[in-house]
Amino acid sequence: MRRFAKSFTQQEAIGDDAIASAVAVLQSGRLHRYNLAEGEAGETALLESEFAASLGVDYALACASGGYALQLALRACGLAAGDKVLCNAFTLSPVPGSIVAAGGEAVLVDILDDTTVDSDDLDRAARESGARFFVLSHMRGHIGDMDAIVAVCKSHGIVLIEDCAHTMGAAYRGRPSGTFGKVGCFSTQTYKHINSGEGGLLATSDADVMRRAVILSGSYMLYDHHLAAPAPESFAETRLLTPNMSGRMDNLRAAILRPQLAELERRKARWNVLYERMEKRLADFPNVQRIARPVEEDFVGSSIQFRLPGVAGDVISRFVEGCEARGIPLKWYGKPVPEDYTSRYDSWGYLANTRSLPAADRVLATLCDLRLPLTFDQADCDDIVALMSAAMDEAVQHPQPLSDRTFGSS
Ligand SMILES: *Cc1c(COP(=O)(O)O)cnc(C)c1O
Repeated sequence: MRRFAKSFTQQEAIGDDAIASAVAVLQSGRLHRYNLAEGEAGETALLESEFAASLGVDYALACASGGYALQLALRACGLAAGDKVLCNAFTLSPVPGSIVAAGGEAVLVDILDDTTVDSDDLDRAARESGARFFVLSHMRGHIGDMDAIVAVCKSHGIVLIEDCAHTMGAAYRGRPSGTFGKVGCFSTQTYKHINSGEGGLLATSDADVMRRAVILSGSYMLYDHHLAAPAPESFAETRLLTPNMSGRMDNLRAAILRPQLAELERRKARWNVLYERMEKRLADFPNVQRIARPVEEDFVGSSIQFRLPGVAGDVISRFVEGCEARGIPLKWYGKPVPEDYTSRYDSWGYLANTRSLPAADRVLATLCDLRLPLTFDQADCDDIVALMSAAMDEAVQHPQPLSDRTFGSS
């Protein structure tokens, strides 16, 4: 059987400019963000100011991971132990994990057919729970109806925190993702849009939130070394009232990230070429329902999702196996037992979820996902869909196991 030869988890090499910056940091020995020579700004502080400028916000903070940025955002926005926090039913496990880590209780919100959050259910969940916070995940880069979502949050006085792990570089109606709520949180983990292995960024224009986030992140009393934070004099009170929960970024990672941030627009264009090619090929694929992308959404196509609404679970299961055999690790969210990255809310057994989520159940049952690393080209996209098509033919033709046959049914 012919196999797709490239790896879906292989990202591009770190560029020469980023390597040169990293080597310079290593040679200096000053890896800790606050270990600075006389007059030196430091890679981390520079990254923060460049990132804030790229979003058009006042402040940015670099930290240890995207999940840590979410925890920090919740704490800096005033989450107290036991507070309810709304969150999409379809997201990645670090989101409910961050809510729990910050002492909150996650309340899941149902989704729409396009996998984004259902603003009507958000309204219901807000009324039922009285939650004051919403962590909105732009899961797999799909941005929901931001007008409706923001309106529901406003009407309930809910603090909106955006999880932009898959929307760094994306926008809605021309406004950057991550600037619709109080705080935007980003990840620089290897599988996201810029790669430092691990890392996170938090963006806000709220001075109180930022002061708390800076101290929480482990700045000791060195907040005056930040370039994208409120003035040092304004920390007089915050600095004595806020605990240190160390989770800083270091200069080595920041050095690797700065050249990548400068390249983000170009990467986005390259990703979207791959995405469009996949979309075009998938349009001819039997049974596939593509996910609609509203015109307001300016996305980064670093992965692609599609649904197989008319296809039975056992056929999808064989299809996924056939893809796997052909070197295509198709992610199927309907798989009964979660594997690798868990995005099924029923595998988060630590949550005390009591809400019924019929649309999430229905949509995830047939939802599939493919990564599109920039190490692929358009011919690879054609090849992937051709191989998937062979896997589907095989899955459909495969005789049903005896136990599944019901006498008299077609
Ligand atoms: C990757 C990711 C995060 C954060 O991940 P970290 O590994 O903590 O950087 C948050 N939300 C979603 C949806 C993600 O995919």
